[in-house]
Amino acid sequence: MSRKQELIEMLKKLTEVPGPSGREESVRNIVAEYLKPYVDKLWVDSWGNLIGLKKGRSSDGKIMIAAHMDEIGLFVSHIEDDGFIRVVPIGGIIERTLIYQRVVLRTRDGRLIRGVVGLKPPHVAKPEELQKVPEFKELFIDIGASSREEVEKLGVRVGDIMVFDRELVELSGDRVTGKAFDDRVGVVSLIEASRIIEKPNVDVYLVATVQEEVGLKGARTSAFAISPDVAIAIDVTIASDVPGVAKSEWYTRLGKGPAIKIADGRNATGLIAHPRVVDLLINIAEKHRIPYQLEIISGGTTDASIIALNKEGVPAGTVSIPSRYIHSPVEVVDINDVYNAALLVARFAEEVTVEWLRELKGATLK
Ligand SMILES: [Zn+2]
Repeated sequence: MSRKQELIEMLKKLTEVPGPSGREESVRNIVAEYLKPYVDKLWVDSWGNLIGLKKGRSSDGKIMIAAHMDEIGLFVSHIEDDGFIRVVPIGGIIERTLIYQRVVLRTRDGRLIRGVVGLKPPHVAKPEELQKVPEFKELFIDIGASSREEVEKLGVRVGDIMVFDRELVELSGDRVTGKAFDDRVGVVSLIEASRIIEKPNVDVYLVATVQEEVGLKGARTSAFAISPDVAIAIDVTIASDVPGVAKSEWYTRLGKGPAIKIADGRNATGLIAHPRVVDLLINIAEKHRIPYQLEIISGGTTDASIIALNKEGVPAGTVSIPSRYIHSPVEVVDINDVYNAALLVARFAEEVTVEWLRELKGATLK
C-alpha cells in the first residue's frame, strides 16, 4: 500500500468514529495506537488531552505541536412523548448543514443508534417557510422510535451525543470527502509528523487536544502543563476556491500545499503568527521543496491562538490544511496537503535548536 493510501486509511478510521467536544475517547484510543511506536512517552491528562513526548538531544527546549481531536456535534436535550429527539449544538454546527442528514447517536454505554434530522414536510409548510433555513428548535431527530419508552429502552438519555453519520470516500485526484476532517486531517498530520521526525534537537510534545470547537480549551490546559518555548497548531483552513467566490477571496486552494498562517480571526484578533516562526516555516518549505501557500483569513482561529497566550507568552504559528465545506458532512481535502503539512511540521521540529529558541526569546530586545 502506498503511503498516500495508508494516510487515507488512517483518516477513514479516525473520522468514522464519533468524537464531539468533551467525548473524544473513541478518537483518542485510535490516535494512541498510532502514536505509540513513534514517541518515548505517551500519556493522557485529566482533561483527556493525549500527549506524546519525543525526546530531543537536549531537554533545554520544548516544542508543542497540537491538533484537535474533537468535532462539532449535538447533545440530546429532550425526548418527546412520540419518540422524537430534540438536540442542542456542540460547537459550530448549523441548521443549514443539518437538515435531512443522517446522524449517529452514541449512548452512555457505547451503543450506536442511527437517526435522521427531520423537518415538517414541504407540502404542509407555508411558502415563506420553504424559503428560509429553519431554526434549531424546529429540528428534530427521528431514530425510528414511536414513543419515549421505546427511545429510553434503547438506552438513550438526555446528554447523549450525536454526530454526522458519514463514511469517508475517495473522490478523484487524490481528494477525499467525509465528516470531521476538521480536525482529524490535522490529527493524521500530527501522527505522520511523529513518524517522520528523526532525533530532534529539543523535546517535541505532540498533543491531540480536546474541546477546541467549544473554545480552544484542551490546548489551554495542556500548554500550561507543558510550558512550550514554541508551538505549532495543525488545523484545517478555508479553501474557498469554488464557483461564486471571487479569486481575491480564495483564502487557500486545495492541493496547493499546506498553508502557513500569517493571521486569523476577525481583523486579526485570532492569532498573529510569530514572524520568526513564519519565516522559519517558509525557509524550511523552500529548502525541502515542500509546496506551501500563505494564509490570512478573517474568521475563525485555532489552538495556536490560546497556546500563544500561555503564561508569559509563546511564539506560535499554524500549519493549515485547506478544506472545502468546513463543518459539513461533505468536507473535501487533498491527501497530498495532509502529507505535506506533516512533512513541513516534522522538518520544523527537527530544525529548531536550543540556540534558536534562546534567540527567539530575546528577539524583541534587538
Ligand atoms: Zn478545527
